[in-house]
Amino acid sequence: MRKFDKNAVFNICLKILLFSFVFLFIYILLWSVFNIPVAVSSVISAGAGILSVLIFSFLLRYTKYYYSYYSFVSAFLFKDNEGEVYCPCCDKHFRQFRDNRYYDDKKRFNPAMFSKARQDVICDFCRSAPRHRIIASWAGQNIGLLRSSRVLLFAPELSIMLWFKRHGIKVTTADLFDRRTDLRLDLTDIALPDGSEDVVFCNHVLEHVPDYSLALSELHRIIRKGGILIISFPIDPGADDVREDTKASVEERIRLFGQHDHFRVFGMNSRKILEDAGFEVDTVNVADLPADILPVTGPADYDTDTVFCCVRK
Ligand SMILES: [Zn+2]
Repeated sequence: MRKFDKNAVFNICLKILLFSFVFLFIYILLWSVFNIPVAVSSVISAGAGILSVLIFSFLLRYTKYYYSYYSFVSAFLFKDNEGEVYCPCCDKHFRQFRDNRYYDDKKRFNPAMFSKARQDVICDFCRSAPRHRIIASWAGQNIGLLRSSRVLLFAPELSIMLWFKRHGIKVTTADLFDRRTDLRLDLTDIALPDGSEDVVFCNHVLEHVPDYSLALSELHRIIRKGGILIISFPIDPGADDVREDTKASVEERIRLFGQHDHFRVFGMNSRKILEDAGFEVDTVNVADLPADILPVTGPADYDTDTVFCCVRK
């Protein structure tokens, strides 16, 4: 069941409100104060209204105001209704999580690879998937550590950012393409000094980079000894080893790895790969986390929920 998207409707209403307010304000000013003819006043006011909506859209798309906006909106949109499921990312209860339908998009995904995946797993407000709620729960159990650490977050997602904002924990965000982050960093050539980070989050990024081994060695290099790497990536429970093809076309990537921008899918030796990269590896045990943040996506033919907690040796 696909539900009504309250966030999108709210966003459109806000833009209409912004346009109307700017239009009326400029119109009244031009027409009644400066006696500019009605037709000219209307055109100038409409132009100012459109410009204000464009600026608003630009701020949300390309700047960190995107996170602040949703943090603010969170206070009065989707009030906690004491339902049975809980999203620790945005701190709200719901009667149920939203139907995903994510994997039905054949231009981006291979639905056959997600045949066993549950779809009713998405938070209605912040769009967190189970993996985000698992990470937020881990973070909730480690607030003291995060408050006293230098934290670097690769490829930040709204749900995780809402958690950090709500808890007042300062993080440095990084991405190669997303303009809303603090730093432009290439995971395979990270422009940061050795041992400079205490805690690094790198979730669902490794399947996108051309050379994942190089990315892991770079992560190992920038984390101080004893520092922590929280990392996750898609795992095919039916594969022993990584399946990858960095030269594959978009169509082949969809067919082979399930998603249009994935170069690979990891296998059951993922833990060993992380250990070989110089980490002491543990998985975040879902059984230790509150049951109301679930259901997880699986048991799936494509596991996106395993989160590794690695200590840099
Ligand atoms: Zn949420």
